[in-house]
Amino acid sequence: MTESPRTRQTRPVSASTPGKIRETSAPQVRPATEGWTQKKDAEGRPLLQFASPRRGKPPVHFADFTPAERIEKVKELGLPGFRAKQLATHYFTHYTSDPAEMTDLPAARREELVTTLMPPLLTEVRRLETDRGDTIKFLWRLHDGALVESVLMRYPGRITLCVSSQAGCGMNCPFCATGQAGLTRNMSTAEILDQIVRANRLIAEGGLGDPRKVGHEGERVTNIVFMGMGEPLANYMRVMDAVRTMVAPQPEGLGMSARGITVSTVGLVPAIRKLSDENIPVTFALSLHAPDDQLRDELIPVNSRWKVDEALDAAREYFEKTGRRVSIEYALIKDMNDHAWRADLLAEKLNARGRGWVHVNPIPLNPTPGSIWTSSEKDVQDEFVRRLNDAGIPTTLRDTRGKEIDGACGQLVATSEDEAAAAAMA
Ligand code: SF4
Repeated sequence: MTESPRTRQTRPVSASTPGKIRETSAPQVRPATEGWTQKKDAEGRPLLQFASPRRGKPPVHFADFTPAERIEKVKELGLPGFRAKQLATHYFTHYTSDPAEMTDLPAARREELVTTLMPPLLTEVRRLETDRGDTIKFLWRLHDGALVESVLMRYPGRITLCVSSQAGCGMNCPFCATGQAGLTRNMSTAEILDQIVRANRLIAEGGLGDPRKVGHEGERVTNIVFMGMGEPLANYMRVMDAVRTMVAPQPEGLGMSARGITVSTVGLVPAIRKLSDENIPVTFALSLHAPDDQLRDELIPVNSRWKVDEALDAAREYFEKTGRRVSIEYALIKDMNDHAWRADLLAEKLNARGRGWVHVNPIPLNPTPGSIWTSSEKDVQDEFVRRLNDAGIPTTLRDTRGKEIDGACGQLVATSEDEAAAAAMA
């Protein structure tokens, strides 16, 4: 375990917070990895991997195609184009790729159609349940042995799935389990979508929560958060193709509302700009975690490319172009980024870009005794939230459901046990 590098830091008290002496003498814990060594580039900075390493491509699947391409594929197999819609209905509405259930397709061709167009993408390795079955973490093995996870959560009035967009991650954040091994590869569009289809199938079978509760019939995933493994904007094209299919009406897609889909990023500015121009009003979340470059350079290595102000400018632009209020994600880490002056600085930077365009979601971490990555004290959390709210920034502490099974943001990583379970199945 890495020793906590605690240093004292004295910062001038902000003009808006006179008399708050406590914050100026609060310790400053600096980010550092614990139990692993961050890969570095030639200049000694944390290595950033944007390009997916070359590996065998995942099998091409029906869900990788647009509706027009699906018709072409079906025709290539010598069948009339309307069969594509039937296949889409089975996959996106009935959540099945079992030929035996596709009784409206010619019996002699069903197997062939499914083998050719719907090869298996995700093999379930492990399933962990918590919250009396209302939260389920899935561990999936991809065709090449890469492991990814998704977490399904039932809340009152909505069902959220946290999906992965890459196997591993190249952003190398020192607090994040997923980033430790670097980027294995980008996931395909269909691999991203299949996480939702598989979750919907489980819900339809009554597998989420107490099946005796009323209201399960017709339930499905209503909200998607791209906060599983990977940096979604580093796999931009496939993620956006997946989003387009999520929002496409059934049966051509999953018929979801764009507003229920949250695309989050650590701040890949050119990709945020591109997202603003897509004309798909998804919810956009910027994982900021620090308002000052000095800390953020260490906490989020991609900050060495695009600084706090650039990321905030791009986030503001997202609001201007889409009219969608932006979320700022901020994990509150004891004595690292939870100082009152940082709440004030964050409020100042957000207000400098206008009012009503943003809200802040501080995320309380779990207490981790002996680690530098531990939760802020309750009163510090409350003070942080109060200062932002007082400055006119709507701020709400986020629910961190799924922590119990290591399924919260930045925590998704295959353990050696998971790998052993996957190997045993291979
Ligand atoms: S926190 Fe997110 S961006 Fe950073 S390494 Fe982990 S998965 Fe990647």
